[in-house]
Amino acid sequence: MIAVFLEHHEGQLQQGSLGVLAKAASLGGDVAGVVLGSGVKELAAGAGKFGAAKVFFADAPELEAPLPQPRVDALAQLVGEQGIDTVLFAASVLASDVAAGLAARLDAGLNWDLVDLAAQDGQLVGKRPALEDSVYVDVGWTGEPRLALFRPGTFDPAESGGEAELEELTPKFEDFSTAATMLEQAHEESEGPSIEDADVIVAGGRGLGGPENFSLVEDLAKALGGAVAATRAVVDAGWYPYATQVGQTGKTVSPKLYVACGISGAIQHKVGMQSSSVIVAINKDPNAPIFEFSDLGVVGDLHKIIPKLTEAIKAKKGS
Ligand SMILES: Cc1cc2nc3c(=O)[nH]c(=O)nc-3n(C[C@H](O)[C@H](O)[C@H](O)COP(=O)(O)OP(=O)(O)OC[C@H]3O[C@@H](n4cnc5c(N)ncnc54)[C@H](O)[C@@H]3O)c2cc1C
Repeated sequence: MIAVFLEHHEGQLQQGSLGVLAKAASLGGDVAGVVLGSGVKELAAGAGKFGAAKVFFADAPELEAPLPQPRVDALAQLVGEQGIDTVLFAASVLASDVAAGLAARLDAGLNWDLVDLAAQDGQLVGKRPALEDSVYVDVGWTGEPRLALFRPGTFDPAESGGEAELEELTPKFEDFSTAATMLEQAHEESEGPSIEDADVIVAGGRGLGGPENFSLVEDLAKALGGAVAATRAVVDAGWYPYATQVGQTGKTVSPKLYVACGISGAIQHKVGMQSSSVIVAINKDPNAPIFEFSDLGVVGDLHKIIPKLTEAIKAKKGS
C-alpha cells in the first residue's frame, strides 16, 4: 500500500500533498493518506474526497507543532504495522525533514525532487530532472519501503468525491524525538497564494531598477490572482525577501504561468522555473537569454509595459 504524508497548516491540507495523493491514486493500487497532528480527525476525513480510500491519522499533543521527529516516529510505526511499502511526500521544509529522518530510521531509500511516478511491470519508477534540469532520469528503489519527495507544484489535486475509511494511530514517541519543543512560530503576513501553491507567478529581477518598483510586479500579480517571486540578484540586494527567490539556491516552482519581468534568464534562475507551463518574458534586451526558453517574449521597457498589462487585465476581469 502507498501512504501519502498529508501536510497541513492552520487547518488546511496543503495543495502539494493533495496533488501527490491524486497522482498516487491514479496509479491504481491501494492508497492511504496520513494526517498527523493535534485535533485533526475532521481534516483527515476531508482527504477522502481527494482520492484517499483510507486515511490514517494520529492525534497527539506531541504532533501539534510542525516538528519532524515525532512525525518520523508515527510514520515508522505505521510502515512497520500496516504493510506500507511506499511513502510519498510533497517537498516542503517539514516534509523534507520528515522524509530524511524516516529514511535514516528505516534504512530506506529516498528519491527526491521527483516530477513523475509510474507503475511499470509491478515496479514503481520515478522521474527526476538532472544536469540542471536538462535531462530526465528514471529512478527506482532497491528495497522497501520506498520513500519519495516530489518537487513542489508537480501535480494538481483532484477531487474524486470519495469517502475515506479513517483509522486512528497511537504512536509511541521516542524520548529524543520529543526533546525539541517549538517556542515560537512567526508568520510572514502576505496576501494571495504562496509561490509554491500559485498557478500564476509574476517574478521581478534587477531590470525593475529598484525595490520601490516591485509594486509594478505586485500589482500585476494581484490582477492575475498570482504570487510574486524574485531573482537572487534582487534578493541579495535586499529588494525582496529570500522566501520569494526562485532558482538553484532558492525555490523550484512550476506554475501554469510564469511572467518574468526584467530578468536576464541566468541558468541558476532558469533551473528553478523552466518547468512552468507557459513562460512570458518582458525584457528590453532582445538578446537576453530568457527569450531562449520563453513561450512569449515582449521586448521593451517594463516600466511602460507592466502598468498597461495590469490595466488591460483588470479591464478584462471587470474590476
Ligand atoms: C552558485 C550560484 C547560485 C545562484 N542561485 C540563483 C538563484 O537561485 N536564483 C537566481 O535568480 N539567481 C541565482 N544566481 C544568480 C544568477 O547567476 C544571476 O546573477 C541572477 O539570476 C540575475 O538576476 P536578474 O535576472 O534579476 O539580473 P540581471 O542578470 O542583471 O538581469 C536584469 C535584466 O533586466 C533587463 N532590464 C533592465 N532594465 C529593463 C527595463 N527597463 N525593462 C525591461 N528589462 C530591463 C536587462 O536587459 C537584463 O536582462 C546564482 C548564482 C550563482 C553563482
